[in-house]
Amino acid sequence: MRTAKRLEAFDAYLGTAMNVILTRMKDDGKDVINLGLGDPDVQPPENQRRALADACMDVDHHHYPSFYSPIPLKEAIADWYRRHFDIRCDPETEVLPLLGSADGLFHIHTCLLDHGDIALVPDPCYPAYVAGVTIAGGVIENVPLKKENGFLPDLAAVEPKVAQKAKMIWVNYPNNPTAAVATEEFYQDLIDWARRYDVAVISDNPYSEVCFEDYRAPSFLQFDGAKEVGVEFNSLSKAYNACGWRIGMMLGNKDIIAGMAKIKSHSDRGMFYPLQVAATEALNGPTDFMVERNRMYQKRRDVVVKGLQDIGLDLQIPRATFYVWADIPKGFKDSKEFCFRVLDEIAVWMIPGSMYGGCGEGFFRIALTHPAERLAEAMDRLRNFLS
Ligand SMILES: *Cc1c(COP(=O)(O)O)cnc(C)c1O
Repeated sequence: MRTAKRLEAFDAYLGTAMNVILTRMKDDGKDVINLGLGDPDVQPPENQRRALADACMDVDHHHYPSFYSPIPLKEAIADWYRRHFDIRCDPETEVLPLLGSADGLFHIHTCLLDHGDIALVPDPCYPAYVAGVTIAGGVIENVPLKKENGFLPDLAAVEPKVAQKAKMIWVNYPNNPTAAVATEEFYQDLIDWARRYDVAVISDNPYSEVCFEDYRAPSFLQFDGAKEVGVEFNSLSKAYNACGWRIGMMLGNKDIIAGMAKIKSHSDRGMFYPLQVAATEALNGPTDFMVERNRMYQKRRDVVVKGLQDIGLDLQIPRATFYVWADIPKGFKDSKEFCFRVLDEIAVWMIPGSMYGGCGEGFFRIALTHPAERLAEAMDRLRNFLS
């Protein structure tokens, strides 16, 4: 069969290949600790699961969702953004539900890029951005995220020639994989910069509700002028421990929202109706479980931060996300050599920074999606391995 050449221009999702390797190791009797997985080990709240179960039992809820009269999901999304960030969005024109934010992260490129158009993509970054630009026929210009800049892009370092030609820029704070957070000044400068060069800002904010101590992650949309220059993605995946549900959302610029709605009218037939009911229930429902959940992630973070500091590795203590990003130890050629030797010798899987882009070289990422005791066990193994 002759498939399209574009398939050769990007890699399949990394997690899929690693799962095959890790499953084989487990089948061989190895006690594998997979610290690569960005999928919470905790459940969505009961009211949300109950709402889905009940809505599924209604025999009328199994047709194409677009044939139903609209339910209040868009309003629930707009209202959630108002309560969480004090942002007003019109549910009709400035809000769009998504089948996971992955749905939006992918199609946004079709919406904004013509063949050969430039997209500014952070390096390191979530791999979906790179694949999305490539499949849409766009051209990637990397914006390095450097440790000395707190893993924020240096907009002044983007050449004016490139900025003038760019159609869009990705930003993602709290950040995956570096766990960095953005300052208010950064967003204000970003909006000024985007206006000057007429570049669409695409903010990916799925960790807005996974914050520690008294840190609260802002939304890009809460800054003056944001809606004129961009949109933000969010998701129930991390906020509501519901990665498998595939419920996401986008809010912001009317023209982008309209373009995405047009594309999605062909690429899917809307969200399964019971999921819409359950998402509405979740967004309107209690959020106190998040406080407990974040405290739990914070304890796990402390276990890993202490473990890594004890073996002398340099890192920033994360204020948000469930990741820890650290320097690889001395004595290894690169992050891949380090992580694959750790996997081979002590059956702990951590993701090499270079898998998120060239500027991720020299780092590795740990996900806090395991009980504290398991993380402590992984840290013990790592200490023994390195001594
Ligand atoms: C987890 C994650 C998402 C969420 O994706 P969903 O499709 O909503 O599950 C988006 N962006 C980044 C950077 C993530 O880490």
